[in-house]
Amino acid sequence: MSYAFFIDTDRCTGCRGCQVACKQWHDLPAEETQNRGSYENPPDLSFATYKLVRMRETEVDGKLKWLFLPEQCRHCIEPPCLETADDEAAIYKDERTGAVIFTANTKNLAADEIIESCPYNIPRKAADGTLAKCDMCNDRVTNGLAPACVQTCPTGAMNFGARKEMVALASQRLSWVMKKHPKAQLVDADDVNVIYLVTEAPADYYESLMAATGAYGVTRHMALRKMVRPFTLAMRQLA
Ligand code: SF4
Ligand code: SF4
Ligand code: SF4
Repeated sequence: MSYAFFIDTDRCTGCRGCQVACKQWHDLPAEETQNRGSYENPPDLSFATYKLVRMRETEVDGKLKWLFLPEQCRHCIEPPCLETADDEAAIYKDERTGAVIFTANTKNLAADEIIESCPYNIPRKAADGTLAKCDMCNDRVTNGLAPACVQTCPTGAMNFGARKEMVALASQRLSWVMKKHPKAQLVDADDVNVIYLVTEAPADYYESLMAATGAYGVTRHMALRKMVRPFTLAMRQLA
């Protein structure tokens, strides 16, 4: 079965419980932080931070509005990172869950090429070139547990289950939220297994929240990657 997340940002309070639960479950170290004039910390995803609650201030109808985005890998239905790697020992999809998994063998890939292929700017690399990102808590999910971030969320912003159920929940919530926020939308819902509901323009939350859509129903990044891939593979064979 393919699973999906439905992340309802209209219900997110920015408490960062999901961010902490992710670190706790994966035994990831804390990172040194500093006051940058925002509660958002650390400043970005990293090899040791798979989930980050991004925080932006914007003006809506003449009033200040604080936008929260609990960000993570989208577990794309056709993952550009996986296709670019073309090495199942390094990046593979668990067909039981739909999770896109990075292994220690990502160290042998061209890291920058994989990072560039992701339309959502997700993978991050360690000093030795190994790549990391959210793994959908695949160990928990295959043992019948919810992902740690979903389990801990106190407001119902984080939801997880069969893709069909999450898509239905997302469209039900969208109809309701649009009554108050006419600009509300679901982000790239047909292409990803992490579906965000946002009430304002996606770019107001984060510049890479939405993949740029091309004319043929694929993202511009994906279209470009498909065009250059034969050359990339040929160059790799020659190297
Ligand atoms: Fe938002 Fe839930 Fe994460 Fe708190 S735990 S920041 S409410 S998604
Ligand atoms: Fe890969 Fe990026 Fe999609 Fe995650 S969001 S599956 S890293 S392409
Ligand atoms: Fe972290 Fe697991 Fe949530 Fe992914 S699914 S963000 S790995 S807690």
